Amino acid sequence: MPSLPGRVRIVIVGGGAVGCSLAYHLAKRGAGAEVLLLERHRLTAGTTWHAAGLVGQLRATQNLTRLAQYTTGLYRGLEAETGQATGFRETGSLAVATTAARFEELRRGASMARRFGLDVQVMDPSEAAKLHPLMEARDLVGAVYLPRDGHVGPIDVTHALAKGARMGGARIEEGVSVTSILAENGRASGVMTDQGPVRAEIVVNCAGMWGHGLAASAGVTVPLHAAEHFYVVTETMPELPPNLPVLRDPDLFTYVKPEPGKLLVGWFEARAKPWGMGGVPADFAFGHLPDDVEHVAPLLEAASRRLPILNRTGIRLFFNGPESFTPDDRYLLGEAPELPGFYVAAGFNSIGIQSAGGAGCVLADWILDGHPPMDLWDVDVRRAMPFQRNARYLRDRTVEALGLLYAMHWPFREPETSRGVRRSPIHDKLAAAGACFGEVAGWERANWFAPAGMKAEYEYSYGRQNWFGASAAEHRAVREAAGLFDQTSFAQFVVEGADAEAALSRICANHVAVAPGRVVYTQWLNERGGIEADLTVTRESDTRFRIVTAAATQVRDFAWLRKHLPSDARVAAWDASSAYATLSVMGPKSRDILAALTPEDLSNAGFPFGTAKEIDLAYARVWATRITYVGELGWELHMPAEYAPGVFDALIEAGAPLGMRLAGYHALNSLRIEKAYRHWGHDITDEDDPIQAGLGFAVAWDKRGGFIGRDALLARRGKKPTRRLATFILDDPAPLLYHNEPIWRDGAMVGHVTSGMFGHTVGRAIGLGYVGHEDGVDAAFVTSGRYQIEVACGRVPATATLTPPYDPTGARIRA
Ligand SMILES: Cc1cc2nc3c(=O)[nH]c(=O)nc-3n(C[C@H](O)[C@H](O)[C@H](O)COP(=O)(O)OP(=O)(O)OC[C@H]3O[C@@H](n4cnc5c(N)ncnc54)[C@H](O)[C@@H]3O)c2cc1C
Repeated sequence: MPSLPGRVRIVIVGGGAVGCSLAYHLAKRGAGAEVLLLERHRLTAGTTWHAAGLVGQLRATQNLTRLAQYTTGLYRGLEAETGQATGFRETGSLAVATTAARFEELRRGASMARRFGLDVQVMDPSEAAKLHPLMEARDLVGAVYLPRDGHVGPIDVTHALAKGARMGGARIEEGVSVTSILAENGRASGVMTDQGPVRAEIVVNCAGMWGHGLAASAGVTVPLHAAEHFYVVTETMPELPPNLPVLRDPDLFTYVKPEPGKLLVGWFEARAKPWGMGGVPADFAFGHLPDDVEHVAPLLEAASRRLPILNRTGIRLFFNGPESFTPDDRYLLGEAPELPGFYVAAGFNSIGIQSAGGAGCVLADWILDGHPPMDLWDVDVRRAMPFQRNARYLRDRTVEALGLLYAMHWPFREPETSRGVRRSPIHDKLAAAGACFGEVAGWERANWFAPAGMKAEYEYSYGRQNWFGASAAEHRAVREAAGLFDQTSFAQFVVEGADAEAALSRICANHVAVAPGRVVYTQWLNERGGIEADLTVTRESDTRFRIVTAAATQVRDFAWLRKHLPSDARVAAWDASSAYATLSVMGPKSRDILAALTPEDLSNAGFPFGTAKEIDLAYARVWATRITYVGELGWELHMPAEYAPGVFDALIEAGAPLGMRLAGYHALNSLRIEKAYRHWGHDITDEDDPIQAGLGFAVAWDKRGGFIGRDALLARRGKKPTRRLATFILDDPAPLLYHNEPIWRDGAMVGHVTSGMFGHTVGRAIGLGYVGHEDGVDAAFVTSGRYQIEVACGRVPATATLTPPYDPTGARIRA
């Protein structure tokens, strides 16, 4: 029995690949002596021991690709560093496509990956067949090859990370179970183990598929659920060529890893089998699940079509092991908003070995520096919604989540399972009007409206999808008459009290000490000047403010707000999102439409842009806010939820004769991109500052008392930033932009598209993206270059601008 220290700085729970990588990286940063890792059984006993060990570098986004690229580099050198073998083999990997769409997906991924110097080669089927001579290649359309991908021994690599951690002073104890998380004064304060308490400043949940239950016991949401994951290992095949690459055939759900003389064949099938519905047993160590030959047989048959050699060999091992999956197939990293001091690194969706290096590295920085080292919103645990702890929701989503790894990653793809969680009061009215819904943070939101005779269902493609025309009509209605948007999914917070103005003044970069009835667009910055949130603040009275922000950032923004309200301030803040509905009427006819329903003076003199009032509207009282995200005259109407159906009916009655149409979120996106309005999480994140983002106009530089992030910004004020957000309009009207496409300036790659959409008024695809240059980027630099945007490995000429492509003076907003 080890005798545990009574107190350490950092306790890591779980000794899989992820926990050991975190310990290793904390040690690398010099904090090893402050780290205690506790593993219930022996290292790797959870999911890690049976992983296939593939380490690929191509991920869905730029930053996740960077982290996977880092992992591969780390594993490449880890044996030399620690003296512990890792089994790392740089075999390369080949992903094949059997349809044009899949090939486009692979090429778009290849374009993105090149941004960071990843060696990715696009090849035709005959070249691919030379690399993998066992492969049937006649039905292939193309392939991409990453020569520096490979595989490791997951047990070996974990032990190498643990050895490196110990070499750096970390203490690792096996055979110690954490039974609960300790908390004091609203912060994590240690763990209780089966061998007594250990006090700590920081507790990190690296407990894999047990991470959900462990977190829930501390009131923290870590939404993940286990699913069965299958692979087989063949008998020895003497004729197996040496140096085969890893093969991925996503259209057949299959991956194939070469082992000495054998092949390991695994699957991410479309419909998975969730596991562990009654909780994952604590004594499940080095465990596996019963075979399910019936489930595997059709998958094996499909794999044999790609590799006919499988028809001629026996199977030595049928393997079925559990792994945890998250609702959006991305892992969960960072400090839990519910419990400061409690960090999470869990839910690795079957890529935990290839993610462990990068995730451990950035989480170590996050813990030691108090903030993430780069934009990690893709995987940030603050995107988890409280309802996502619901067991049935998780189980039902897991059926789909495993298969999404290899499913087509269509633009605008929506999940099919666990839907209908959060609905606006007018949901059924929108459905009856032909709404096709998408999901954000559990909300069902109308993305577009199917005209009569058309089904409200997506037909996905990389080109113009079936809703393109319908959304274009909504877009035009907003520009020419009016559109009615249901924006009930907005998160809304109320901040009230005698000190509300002072507290918010410090948190907001813009000036919010305004007269009641003013609406202020502002960012919340961190101490480094990075943008943590992008939202509006409406002063409703001397002591009461309403904050409106995006659905996706409800938890994150509210946690930021709470954290930064001084504990001794006379102020209360609450999350009122579920209390309010929002209907927005936007477009040149919006004034006429509302005038039919309210006695209020809506003229420019009576109701100027940037103001808000509580007004009579139909039979309700609503907070009307004259603001826009689409670049037209318009009002957001916020009301207690139960009034929304009545107000909606009245708006339709008044609006229809004036050409108002229902409009969805796809139209909202095409409208906002023509105005170059930024979208937090894509165009602006915590690693971008307002100067780089072109949002200096929303910074109240000289306000009394300053604001969080001011000093960092001031140090950069007046200097050329090394990156600048610009708008790009493709010269050719045909190609579409989504995001992540590289931006070339005069033949050099200078950035990538952070968000893209077709602008129906401009008639071209438009992208926002940063132009970077180490000597600084000013307006002349941005507009003087010759630009191309790389789409699926081809380059499309584009024009860059720093002014919005539509209504650059904002005249229409103030009309
Ligand atoms: C069949 C299969 C094949 C896979 N193939 C690959 C692949 O090719 N490439 C890849 O990248 N990934 C692969 N994966 C996924 C990979 O195995 C996982 O993502 C990864 O191992 C997760 O590591 P982890 O450290 O998060 O979890 P785990 O390895 O499960 O570690 C968590 C540890 O926490 C311990 N623990 C839990 N609760 C407590 C407690 N209360 N107190 C103390 N200790 C506790 C557990 O005992 C366990 O050891 C595969 C998974 C499966 C199932």
